[in-house]
Amino acid sequence: MSKLLVGSATDVGLVRSNNQDQLLVSPGLYAVADGMGGHAAGEVASSTAIKALQAAFAASGEHSAESLESAAKAANRAVWEQARTNRGMLGMGTTLVALAVVEHGDGTNGLAVAHIGDSRLYLLRGGSLKQLTVDHSLVQELVDDGQISQAQAAVHPQRHVLTRALGVEPTVQVDLIDVAPKHGDRYLLCSDGLPREATDEQIAAVLTRFSDPSEAAKELVTLANTRGGSDNVTAVVVDVLANEDSPESLIVVPGPARSSGAEKRRRAAPGTGRDGAGGAPAGPAGAGPAITLTARATTVPKRVTARVVAFGVALCLVVGGAIACLGWYARSAYFVTISKGRIAIFQGRPGGVLWFQPTLVQRTAYGPSSVLAYNLQPLDAGEMEPSVADARLYVDRLVSEKREAEGVTPSGARGAPRRHSGGATAPAPTTAPRSHSTGTTTPTLTTAAGPGAKKAKKTTST
Ligand code: MN
Repeated sequence: MSKLLVGSATDVGLVRSNNQDQLLVSPGLYAVADGMGGHAAGEVASSTAIKALQAAFAASGEHSAESLESAAKAANRAVWEQARTNRGMLGMGTTLVALAVVEHGDGTNGLAVAHIGDSRLYLLRGGSLKQLTVDHSLVQELVDDGQISQAQAAVHPQRHVLTRALGVEPTVQVDLIDVAPKHGDRYLLCSDGLPREATDEQIAAVLTRFSDPSEAAKELVTLANTRGGSDNVTAVVVDVLANEDSPESLIVVPGPARSSGAEKRRRAAPGTGRDGAGGAPAGPAGAGPAITLTARATTVPKRVTARVVAFGVALCLVVGGAIACLGWYARSAYFVTISKGRIAIFQGRPGGVLWFQPTLVQRTAYGPSSVLAYNLQPLDAGEMEPSVADARLYVDRLVSEKREAEGVTPSGARGAPRRHSGGATAPAPTTAPRSHSTGTTTPTLTTAAGPGAKKAKKTTST
């Protein structure tokens, strides 16, 4: 027999304005969901998914890999229904990775994992870290096809485009993995905010250094933030405590989603007492509730016919193509807006397109007071630009308009401040080299516009 000890942590990160990650730490069920959607929709998606998952898994009575899969599908329906019936939430979705203690037919216990999207489950065993889930992302498919390497995937511009998410369709395919736990195992559930910033080696180093699961989870969040914190980050660390009593074997079978018609398991009383922890997703938890569990090897029956594979491949091509097009559209533009009190350049479209969210390219040193008042409204809405260079030119233009209006840069006769009129038709005077007043100490943006490039510049990057 062994016990599970759990610690968790989540943080908004250094760039995003809200935390759309949700975590669940409840007896025998642990999960991380990373929501996507404009405005507050991402938060709604992830919290709806977690609540529905927990409720459905608890209601299933028998705790099996199949009931975990059903619970994930119930979560999918819950998010889908909410998105369908609330206008502002159309297109919202979420990732989900859930680890559950399950009962086998012979009364022994094991672990099952349900997974959709790019939140991950790692296993640290014998000092080495292994990723047990395979991301449902565009870059993962490119890696699988041998088109790019893992290293290229890590910096690929479309690395955040998912090929599968929970809640964006009425039904979803769930990846199920059976895990035979071993004493001393350490499982890590995390959102992409962690691997986005840290390498597997860095993650493994933290998991090895901090034996307390709560400390380890907190350190992982800190690691992501010190390396950029470009996204929300969440970590749930589940330890299978060491105990020498029972020798056990291990088989980890990462399966393609198994047919739901897998044979029913013997109905057994749940082996996990739900000790009043309540239904709400737990926040950063200390030493979590311990549950008992007997390690045992598990095998997964594979029943996939050639026809099913062919149909799946055809469907993936169509759906993948559509998603790739949508992703391209969503990310093919840039916009300038005010974020966290400063003028910032984002790649994407204001508010996002379905679950493709804009990402920060650069937050400048300028605040709203650096531009003329009449320029604030287009900034609030998000001023679209075809490229980063155009976006930077636009910011430069706004700032110089304000300076000129204040007489800071007396560089000859200039027209009255004028509205920006798009990259290609930008008025010549404002893009021409301008003599930099020695009096001003305000930093100027570096631009990629050859002749317009200026000296004495400082670039603020994220
Ligand atoms: Mn994320």
